[in-house]
Amino acid sequence: MDNIANYINGEFTAPHSGQYLDNFEPATAQVYSRVPASTESDVQAAVEAAKGALGTWVALSNDERARYLEKIADLIEVNLETLAAAESRDNGKPISLARSVDIPRSAANLRFFAASARTFNSESHIGSTSAINYTRRDPLGVVACISPWNLPLYLFTWKIAPALAAGNTVVAKPSEVTPYTAFELSKLCIEAGLPQGVLNIVHGLGPDVGAPLCRHRDVKAVSFTGGTATGRAIAQDLAGQFKKTSLELGGKNPNIVFADCDFEKALETTVRSSFANQGQICLCGSRLFVERPIYEKFKQGLVSKVADLIQGDPNDDATQQGAVVSKAHYEKVLGAIELAKTEGGTVIHGGSAHKVDGRCKDGWFIEPTIIEGLSFDCQSNQEEIFGPVISICPFDSEDEVLKWANSTKYGLAASVWTKDVGRAQRVARDLESGIVWVNTWMNRDLRTPFGGTKMSGLGREGGWEAMKFFTEAKNVCIEFG
Ligand code: NAD
Repeated sequence: MDNIANYINGEFTAPHSGQYLDNFEPATAQVYSRVPASTESDVQAAVEAAKGALGTWVALSNDERARYLEKIADLIEVNLETLAAAESRDNGKPISLARSVDIPRSAANLRFFAASARTFNSESHIGSTSAINYTRRDPLGVVACISPWNLPLYLFTWKIAPALAAGNTVVAKPSEVTPYTAFELSKLCIEAGLPQGVLNIVHGLGPDVGAPLCRHRDVKAVSFTGGTATGRAIAQDLAGQFKKTSLELGGKNPNIVFADCDFEKALETTVRSSFANQGQICLCGSRLFVERPIYEKFKQGLVSKVADLIQGDPNDDATQQGAVVSKAHYEKVLGAIELAKTEGGTVIHGGSAHKVDGRCKDGWFIEPTIIEGLSFDCQSNQEEIFGPVISICPFDSEDEVLKWANSTKYGLAASVWTKDVGRAQRVARDLESGIVWVNTWMNRDLRTPFGGTKMSGLGREGGWEAMKFFTEAKNVCIEFG
């Protein structure tokens, strides 16, 4: 059995507890490796290592730091196949998706923030008085990066890269559900010669590793992506410390299709935006609202295209739908489908566990599921499911659909499909959402602010937003008489 190791002070270390957690392959439901069950003392060692490395890291030029990030990106690209296979095995996602999205994007994150390290500016403000202000952007010190299981290496690097680019040292915690590619990344950091202690990776459970890491007095900021309940617990825990916190949390995203849309493009994209990664992307649209004149045609088209999706062994290149990430999640999603039925929903496609023959016969597969007939305010349409399940509903007016779209406590992302520019602009303005895509989905420019409003989070990642989060602004005013 393969034992994953922590990466602390540039070395692989076993957890102080000597204990490990089972790591499952979702497609087979078999344990295939073991994750360190680290505890507070491992966190302490990692924070000490990160503190020790600060002087070295800060002393490097921006260009030198950028080169380390680029070297790690190079190694990710060289090892793309190995990493894609590891990600697919650990998460249950189709290998084609890991190969085309997760791993290339992980390298892109590092390259993007390497460029940011070189180009991030301090600001200066020259007024009419005889003084000049300039604003330093200094690294914070040791920062914590905590990530979830749905896009493991992709989101892990999305946090680590700006933190390092801005001159901080990092203690990072990947999800205990999908730890493997973070372990692979630690091997690549050693190969890249990253100075010891600059990045430390501690594996284990949220309460045992994540919570003491967030709370640690020497950790100056916490960048967290995960569920809203966890985000709330962290925010409550840290309120007394006034610690800088970035929270990227859950969503219940609306996908709004007007009758004047480009029908085929809206349909094709809706299949992806609903079911990519088995619906386990925080940006997936889980509530599909279709304007009544095209409702029946769109619904039938969607059911027919979803029926054609190939579900099976994530290892097969042809597979488009893999397994969901864990047994607990599998049971949660199937429970949500049952709840939707009791709330008046009719399953018009899927609705059950999916059986795959051969090596995946015990895997956690769920059919892509479409549910009709749910009211906008029932629990199924208000709470995040985060699986291959969407609801579909006709609407009659812009006001009506905006009211429904904005009715949840979440506000992460939304998609709008229309050829009417005026309407696109109006609806985008009135949606309570951090991100709105018009006639597209998950079209990402890494410079743009990324994040949610309401209970989908606090703060923004991406571009300068991330560089600002990971630095402290200090304004210096000089009067020159
Ligand atoms: P989760 O909140 O259970 O766990 C996320 C991470 O937090 C894990 O590493 C976990 O170990 C850690 N953690 C758990 N308890 C902690 C604590 N008390 N203190 C510190 N860390 C703790 O989330 P998950 O189930 O891994 O991920 C799914 C959720 O993530 C969904 O709600 C999804 O919408 C959300 N998500 C949001 C975004 C976004 O950008 N807004 C992106 C991806 C996923």
